[in-house]
Amino acid sequence: MSQQLTEEKACPVARTIQRLSSVLKEDRLNVAKCRVWAEKTLTLMEDIASGRAGPEHFPAIEALAARLIKEGEASPCVETGRMLASAFDRHREIFLSHIETHICPVEDCEKLNPAPCQMACPAGIDVPSYVTLIGQGKDAEAVELIRRDNPFPWVCGLVCTHPCEFMCVRGRVDQPIAIKDLKGFAAERAMSEGRYKNPEPAPDNQGRVCIIGAGPGGLTAAYYLALKGYRVTVIESLPMAGGMMMVGIPRYRLPREVIDREVAMIEDLGVEFRMSTRLGEDVTLDELREEGFEAFLIAVGAHSSFKMGIKGEDRFPQVIDAIQYLRRVAVGDRHAPGRKVAIIGGGNVAMDAARTSIRLGCQEVTVVYRRTRSEMPANEEEVVQAEEEGVKFAFLTVPMEIKGDSGQITGLHCLRTELGPPDDSGRRRPVPVEGSDFVLEVDAVISAIGQAVDRTGLEEADNLQWSKRGTIQVHTASMETSSEGVFAVGDVVTGPATVVEAIGGGKRAAEAIDRYLRGIPQPKMPPVPIRRQRVPFLEMPASTKMTLRRPEMPMLGDERRRVTFQQAELGYSENMAREEARRCLRCDVCVRCGRCVDVCREKMGVDALQMGYVEFEHPGETDLRIAAERCILCGACAANCPTGAMRMEDRGEERVLSLCGTILNRLEVERCEACGAVLGPARYHDYIRRRIHGISPQLRDQRLCLECARNAAAKHHAGMSPPQAF
Ligand SMILES: Cc1cc2nc3c(=O)[nH]c(=O)nc-3n(C[C@H](O)[C@H](O)[C@H](O)COP(=O)(O)OP(=O)(O)OC[C@H]3O[C@@H](n4cnc5c(N)ncnc54)[C@H](O)[C@@H]3O)c2cc1C
Ligand code: SF4
Ligand code: SF4
Repeated sequence: MSQQLTEEKACPVARTIQRLSSVLKEDRLNVAKCRVWAEKTLTLMEDIASGRAGPEHFPAIEALAARLIKEGEASPCVETGRMLASAFDRHREIFLSHIETHICPVEDCEKLNPAPCQMACPAGIDVPSYVTLIGQGKDAEAVELIRRDNPFPWVCGLVCTHPCEFMCVRGRVDQPIAIKDLKGFAAERAMSEGRYKNPEPAPDNQGRVCIIGAGPGGLTAAYYLALKGYRVTVIESLPMAGGMMMVGIPRYRLPREVIDREVAMIEDLGVEFRMSTRLGEDVTLDELREEGFEAFLIAVGAHSSFKMGIKGEDRFPQVIDAIQYLRRVAVGDRHAPGRKVAIIGGGNVAMDAARTSIRLGCQEVTVVYRRTRSEMPANEEEVVQAEEEGVKFAFLTVPMEIKGDSGQITGLHCLRTELGPPDDSGRRRPVPVEGSDFVLEVDAVISAIGQAVDRTGLEEADNLQWSKRGTIQVHTASMETSSEGVFAVGDVVTGPATVVEAIGGGKRAAEAIDRYLRGIPQPKMPPVPIRRQRVPFLEMPASTKMTLRRPEMPMLGDERRRVTFQQAELGYSENMAREEARRCLRCDVCVRCGRCVDVCREKMGVDALQMGYVEFEHPGETDLRIAAERCILCGACAANCPTGAMRMEDRGEERVLSLCGTILNRLEVERCEACGAVLGPARYHDYIRRRIHGISPQLRDQRLCLECARNAAAKHHAGMSPPQAF
């Protein structure tokens, strides 16, 4: 795209942000208060460009510009104020439309146009950009890009629940991109080989923040606050950092070294850790305030387990809750809970407890779940791996009583269930079947039916509002609680959720705490993800794009998995990862508007683009190879593509049509027999000649450009002979 075209397409909001950023970067504002006003204006404008602004934003930036002009004292400040005031004045409507519609009218503010995978990621990571970087072999750059939104790329590359993959558009073609596994591959490469280094933190700004809980939520906030120059202290009740990543998720899924490595990188930024220190027991919020902390983040997770509420639950020491059980194993206890174990529940925690029990040598491990396999909340791959390792499943089964004598469990009295109408969760309610009783012979029972927030220690945090579910209530955009200067994130807010949700909350909280301490109003809307980079397309033929398949994850053999805590997933090889990254459709650029398909079919009557995935509700078949058979290289699709995803260009003697780098068609161009101008490929020329056949039948066998054809037709009609070929 030419410079002029880029200028024309540039959004005034984006352009003004760019100008103000360079003023700040070049340190042109020599009066301290002006710098502060300019920084506030920049933050508020970034809100506007990312769909987070409210009606008060525009008057606020106008007022700040006016202040820079009136009270600026030095000419650079006044000039900056004038530059801003003039932009606000001239482009008032575009600024206001960004605020009202959260859409950039010239589609230039990338933050307002994220790919579905990025939208689905709770941390808002720019997936297509890092996937493409991995495809280019740039693992360290990919990790750098991921860490702008998530300081735990390696952890998430191993255990993230990958909601991005459920939204992946490639999944409408064949299988979704293995986004999680690619992240794990790049992080392992870049971090274990020391090719990735922490970013430089901003200079110390003296602000002091205390974070309670060293799980992913608290640690993420600590990372982004430290990068902003804050002095951060993390208080943790356990002797180690990592939260549920460390004491919940078993080692065969997430090796300890991975967590240690990523936590160490946060510590390297100067974050102070006070281990074995429990809020409410060892220290109080008032004492911490007296120490000089100005803002607090509560990120204590949800570590207490629900009771099963069945007879015998409190009678036997062999009834254990899964959270305590997994924690014990995580800190080194390798005693099997029993010989034959029943695990109650159907979620990921139940799978972890079952697979851990197999590894500890239990002879028989049965997961007891009251619905069917398809209703299980556990991830499919977890269930499959549990089966491979020998875990048994009793579906449509509900425990009624734990039986035993002399303090020893002998069995679990169960009833069969049938599925009735849906309940509040939308899943069909299990209804016990009278007379279907049976006893499962077991000597230990592990309950994994859900967790709740343990409030002990938080009672003294005055004014905290709690939801009916027993979680802390916060403002979803800023993570502010009802207590002044106290924020909260992670499972303590959402109830038991996921690592990446805690990370997303931690990132939001860091920004909100920064605003709070700098006196900037909090956003009204949750943030829209940011496109971090414009990564060039990976070029390949359509045949390659269509035939590449998602690789299977190489696994440790079942036998080894049954007896060791060695990592079960072995990770992709280099070749697998690079090829997999090349399957991405680059939905950050192709917005699947379908204009190209329509123009080709309806206007040109060619129907060369078979992109079934542009239909969200009912995706049809996609075969990008068909274009090579049918496309005439007229360029109508490229001319109508609003984003530059579809491109047609002449490369030497060839004309090439590509969709986000995938070559759909390439044909040799012909030249005008009269003047030598490039005509386009023969196929295109034939198409045109078929259309003008009726008008000028005598031109049928000649290759002429429009100008020469017009001249020839005019001469012919005047009774003269057509021009000579050159
Ligand atoms: C067995 C299991 C498996 C899981 N598997 C996955 C998975 O595969 N993928 C996934 O995405 N998610 C998984 N999760 C969920 C995920 O681990 C959590 O959602 C996530 O860790 C929550 O992060 P958090 O920061 O809110 O809290 P946590 O990780 O729970 O961390 C809270 C921290 O606060 C500390 N703390 C608590 N009270 C106090 C106090 N009063 N004072 C000081 N410190 C305190 C705790 O010791 C803990 O270290 C799993 C959870 C469990 C239990
Ligand atoms: S194809 Fe690529 S850009 Fe599109 S949703 Fe999947 S990972 Fe994201
Ligand atoms: S290539 Fe362009 S016109 Fe076609 S669907 Fe994608 S964005 Fe729309």
